[in-house]
Amino acid sequence: MFSPETETLSRKKIQELQLERLKYIVRYAYENVAMYKERFDAIGLKPEHIRSLKDIEKIPYTTKDDLRDNYPFKLFAVPMKKIIRIHASSGTTGKPITCGYTRQDLDNWSTCIARVLAMAGATDEDIFHVAFGYGLFTGGFGLHYGIEKLGATVVPVSSGNTERQIMLLKDFGATALIATPSYAMYLAETAKKMGVLGDLRLRLACVGAEASTAEMHESLRNILGVFPTENYGLTEVGGPGVAGECREKAGMHINEDMFYPEIADIEHNKVLGEGEKGELLLTTLTKEGMPILRYRTKDITSLTYEPCKCGRTLARMARVVGRTDDMLIIRGVNVFPSQIESVLMGMPELGKTYEIIVDRVNYMDTIEVRVEVGDTGLLDDYGKLEALVAKIKHNLRVVVQLDVKVKLVEPFSIKRAEGKVKRVTDLRKK
Ligand SMILES: [Zn+2]
Repeated sequence: MFSPETETLSRKKIQELQLERLKYIVRYAYENVAMYKERFDAIGLKPEHIRSLKDIEKIPYTTKDDLRDNYPFKLFAVPMKKIIRIHASSGTTGKPITCGYTRQDLDNWSTCIARVLAMAGATDEDIFHVAFGYGLFTGGFGLHYGIEKLGATVVPVSSGNTERQIMLLKDFGATALIATPSYAMYLAETAKKMGVLGDLRLRLACVGAEASTAEMHESLRNILGVFPTENYGLTEVGGPGVAGECREKAGMHINEDMFYPEIADIEHNKVLGEGEKGELLLTTLTKEGMPILRYRTKDITSLTYEPCKCGRTLARMARVVGRTDDMLIIRGVNVFPSQIESVLMGMPELGKTYEIIVDRVNYMDTIEVRVEVGDTGLLDDYGKLEALVAKIKHNLRVVVQLDVKVKLVEPFSIKRAEGKVKRVTDLRKK
């Protein structure tokens, strides 16, 4: 463990620490961020009204729109001279989301990352190949400084040029990979194609920045020979390092001394209990540059406070089922792309790359899955091909309760992403 004294605190001690920090950060946000002062004043809420952890429920949520409306720096709580780094989300629509960090924020961030990497089983002897993009994206730099803090070796390769990445992985003898799960899979496929898969020394893959499924992890383990773990975070609260899986792979441990998690039923404005599934809310307990109270992550998960077999007592969040933003509504049925992935990854006949195309034809929603076969030979055998398509359709119907059109395509015919993968094309929006 990187911070054993914090990671094994009793529940009572964790809550005491959280309450002390919550009271502080609420007052700090109220006194230093105009939006929070206005919000509190509008409902007559004062920082001194926060006397217990439960009192957090009096505070209004913060949403992505709030961050956009205050673009770029209006949520910063310190003068610019105290901000020593800025990151921003990729911003697929309109302006990006920005985040500012003080020196202390960067130090805390590195600590969170170092803990998450140690949870995954990394030590100061590991050589980390970072295939996350370096830039405004929080992934590259965020992991980079956490790896250094752990005392391991960083190879800051960044994204792009996959064949060169394979050469470096091999020549530098990297033992740990930092990538999105889809890119880790692409690296594995490429190494196999180049005939050097057996020369790689990778033992760990710490994946994040996009949702992954248990089946995807199993595939990474089988093909790349690594122990895969997932980590979680988002730019709005500072980036990766909010939570990470330990070797037990029984949920992601949340850095609870830095983030206060809640699970909410937004529709009924209600905070849910342990084990109940709902939207994750996060409050930053230590951020100086840009404190955020009760951020609506849009990620659906649940929490457990049971101490883990690994010895850590930090709460664990379940793998994110799907972002509410990612949910597709097809003919009135809710479908998460992760459900489709779990079916496809669970079938050994198939490759690991797929795409989902949603359209509307004659006022009727259609959904098509294009997936690569594992072996080209299959495409020449019409009988086998038909049988496989029928099997995929059947498996998908069981999980998503819809008739899905399935198209099998040749290996490597679907374009690979070098950063975050975009699996879904929704043509209905045109
Ligand atoms: Zn654990």
